[in-house]
Parts: sequence; C-alpha cells; structure tokens
Amino acid sequence: MYDLLIHGADILQISGADVAILPEHCLAIANGRIAAIAPAISPGLAREQIEARGMLAIPGLINSHAHIAMALFRGVAEDVPIEAWFNDFVWPMETNLTEEDIYWGALLGLAELIESGVTTVADHYFGMDAVARAVAEAGLRANLAWTLFSGPDEAAQLARGTQFVEQWGGAAGGRIRAWLGPHAPYTCTPSFLASVAAEARRLGVGIHIHLSETADQVAQSRAAHGKTPVAVAREAGLFSVPALAAHLAHPDEDDIAVLAADGVAVASTPKTEMKLGIGVAPVTTLRAHGVTVGLGSDGAASNNSYDMLEAARLIALLEKHRCGDARVLPIGEALALATSEGARALRLAGVTGALQEGLAADVVLLRRNSTHAQPLHNPAATLLYSARATDVDTVLVAGQVLMRGRKLLTIDRRRVLREAARRATRLTRRRAGTQIASYPEAE
Ligand SMILES: [Zn+2]
Repeated sequence: MYDLLIHGADILQISGADVAILPEHCLAIANGRIAAIAPAISPGLAREQIEARGMLAIPGLINSHAHIAMALFRGVAEDVPIEAWFNDFVWPMETNLTEEDIYWGALLGLAELIESGVTTVADHYFGMDAVARAVAEAGLRANLAWTLFSGPDEAAQLARGTQFVEQWGGAAGGRIRAWLGPHAPYTCTPSFLASVAAEARRLGVGIHIHLSETADQVAQSRAAHGKTPVAVAREAGLFSVPALAAHLAHPDEDDIAVLAADGVAVASTPKTEMKLGIGVAPVTTLRAHGVTVGLGSDGAASNNSYDMLEAARLIALLEKHRCGDARVLPIGEALALATSEGARALRLAGVTGALQEGLAADVVLLRRNSTHAQPLHNPAATLLYSARATDVDTVLVAGQVLMRGRKLLTIDRRRVLREAARRATRLTRRRAGTQIASYPEAE
C-alpha cells in the first residue's frame, strides 16, 4: 500500500544536458520515498491521491547558499557597493536581531522557498537554533551551519558551532544536516580556520564557507598571505572534509585545479553578484574542470528573493552572454544546477535532487495553464525561461505535503507576514559603533 499517489502529471527527468518528460505518469510514495513511477498505477493501491493532470512534476529545487532569516532585510540596502552593504547596512542591522527575530525571519524565508518550489536549503547564519526550529516545523530539508568569525571569543564561537552540530545533525527525521560555517578567509584567521577544520574532521561533518566573492578579497588575501583565499582555505585543512564554497566569483587556474582535485563544491549566487557588481563564478569553466556547482540565493538583503528558477535562468543567460555562445549551459544543465547538481554540492546525491525510485519524495507540481507558459512546445524550456514562482502549486518533502493548491500547510502564513512587518522597523535602526564584523575596505 502506498501512502500517496500523484496521478497523471508530466514528469521531468534530467540527465546531463538531456531532459525527458514522461507524459501523464503516476508517481507513488511510500515511507517518504518515491516508490514507483509508471504510466498507470491503480488508485486503489494508495491511501491518498493528488490529481495532477496538466501539471509538471519536477524534483524539489535546491538552494545551495542562503541566509534565509535575512528575508527581514529585503530591500534595505539597495544600489550600494559591497563595502557599504556590509559595513553601513547589514552588519550594523544584524546586531538588532534577537533569536525570535531570526525565527520569524527564517519562517518568512522558508515560506517563500516553499512557495517557489524549493525543498532543500543550505543556510549559513547565526542564531541557528531558531533557524533549525523553523526548518523542523516548516518541513524542508536543510544543511545548516552556524556562522563563525575570528575574534577574542572565537573559541566560544567554535564551541557553539560544535554544540549546534551535535544537537541538530540528523534532527527532524534526518531532514536536517549540520555543518560548520566559518564566515570567510577575510573574517577568519588561518589558525582559526585550521581549528574549525580539525573540529569538522572530529565531528565527521562538512564545511560551508564564503570564498573569493570579489577581486578585492583575492588581492587582499595575496597581500596578507601571499596566496588566494582558496589556497588559504586549503592550507588550513578546510578541504580535508566535504566543503562547499559560496560565490567563488574570482578563482584563478590553480584555484580551479585545487577545487577539482579536493572535491570542493561551489554554490554560485548569480543575482547577488550581479546586483553588487562583484563578478559571477565562471560556472561552465568550473564544470568543465570537474567542479560540482550548485545554485544559491545568498540572503534577501542582496538577492531580494529565494527563487531558484530565477537563479537557474540568470546563470544560463549570463554564461551564454559571457561566453558569446548560445550553446553554453543548455536547458538540462541549467535545470540540473538547481536540482541534481545542487544535491551533489550538498552531498545529498542519492537522497534528493531527482525524480527516481528510491530517492526522497521531494516533489514539486507546477501549473502550466498561464498565458506565459503556453503553448507547450518545449516543457523544459518553459520551466527554465518562462515559469514563475507563482506557477508552483504543490510541494512535498519526504512525502509530506507542505503546500497544496498554493496553500501552505506547515506555516501560518498570515502570522509570519504579521510578525515580519511588526519587527521590520526596529531591525533597520543603525547605531554608531555596533556591527557584527567589519568588511575590509579596498586600498
Ligand atoms: Zn552568503
């Protein structure tokens, strides 16, 4: 007996650059996993049914780098360069955050993720107990890391990161994984990075870090350490565990060779990087050298949305533009960055990222009866280049229905919107001398 039967959907299958659609198929779910995909499965074999004729079933999308609670800061730091973005806006405002603010900000972000078809998120922030609580309630799958900075209290910070891993790793029925999250080589000393790496090895977890976001960061690293941020991270031992490098807009050839050899994955966040004008990861070059690349959003203070269809669309357009070649990053590969490749980046291949028997039932159903989606000459092209987040109708994670007919079932949407609005004004106050960290100004 199946727990749930999705009936009559067109089912998207991605394999490399190839995309296939299984027309009007059934997808059966048992014990949180995809138990069968077939042209016909008798309704009598399942306890519950979802009628999905006319809809497209896709694997749940994966956001490989986010700071979801920053949904509270959406739109507060616009049209400013990255130094001012950090030093004048984000880091001063973040000192206002209480754990309850982070909880409600995370729920706002999680609601947006579900509504845009994202079922897995890699989140990097502080106050992560509140984020983990929100993820456990909302029902998504997540890789969570507590952001760590160097400073006089760095030993205590690392201990807190460790405590978080021990408390939340494997929680929520295994939906939550917990890693260590040193912020970046420009905010963490090499010796602190080495301590974090040693702790990650001891705990048997991975590391999620920001690397080489801007050309200035690379230049400053060369001036301070005689090497790139990638080389600093490698020498500190960060790549001796599963590692996820966010942004990586400015790797040199040696960096790319190191990332490929050490199996470091990259989370590219094209909208944030375009908006801050700091350069975007050379995704096709990285992939050609064997580096796994997923897509992320970063926080809503820079990205303004957590929509991974938008991220896939942007990176496809950007890479075609950068390379001057329309054949670069074809539809299947661009969609894979937000699904199967994202799963590989988070070391969740074999768990999620595709609609295959045996994988988790992380499934999204999209409506295609909007004017912007018709006619359906090429359903995959419509998904990548025409679909909107509001086309997402139904979302399941591990077989649990989180949204149906666009109604959120695990999150009290009205209350989240009310709480976010209530907290917004206080959070944007900026007081002299208060900031989480300071971003190094270029010479
Ligand atoms: Zn980030």
